[in-house]
Amino acid sequence: MEGTQRTPVVPLEAGAGPDNPPCAACGEPLFGWIDQRPGLAGPVRRCESCGLGVVGTPGEAAEALRELDRLGEGQALRIADRDGFAAWIGGAGWAGLERGARYLFTTEAVRRLVAHRDQVVKSARWSPGAGIATMWQTLINSATFGRNLVVGRSVEAKKPWQRRIDWLAVVILAVPALAISLPLELVAAACRKGSARSLEVELL
Ligand SMILES: [Zn+2]
Repeated sequence: MEGTQRTPVVPLEAGAGPDNPPCAACGEPLFGWIDQRPGLAGPVRRCESCGLGVVGTPGEAAEALRELDRLGEGQALRIADRDGFAAWIGGAGWAGLERGARYLFTTEAVRRLVAHRDQVVKSARWSPGAGIATMWQTLINSATFGRNLVVGRSVEAKKPWQRRIDWLAVVILAVPALAISLPLELVAAACRKGSARSLEVELL
């Protein structure tokens, strides 16, 4: 019948569901990013709004804040930036995706998380050493069976022959990977997409 067809109007929250649980930092639905891999507690989801990455079953803000507090002392924190260039080119091989990782932070995700306890991010600076190391390890990860064999918590390959080849690859690629990661990370930092960041938070 004419006039009975209407475009259904659904609230934004309808995007949330068992497959798209809410983000611990901002409450927007999370979307699938990376399938489960060895060393990870489950598949990885990400928030399209604040960028937070969540490994396995998403938790509440309080749990994400506890994880965040482990990344530094006092009010200084250092994150491998999920919004950084290394995460973008690395995908599943990104060095920030460490064994046992639970939450993968961005500056915006941290900003929204610490707001839950009346804190603000006072500064978010590129962390050169950690950024170059993250970029370097991400490049090495693309050539090995295991991951993070030098930087971060490692996931070794299952078979002994794979582990032998992996270490050979690390030795052979160490210097060439550094020669690539150094300029790459400098460009990334210049574009405000550095691979690691030091954050300072303070009470409002
Ligand atoms: Zn979010």
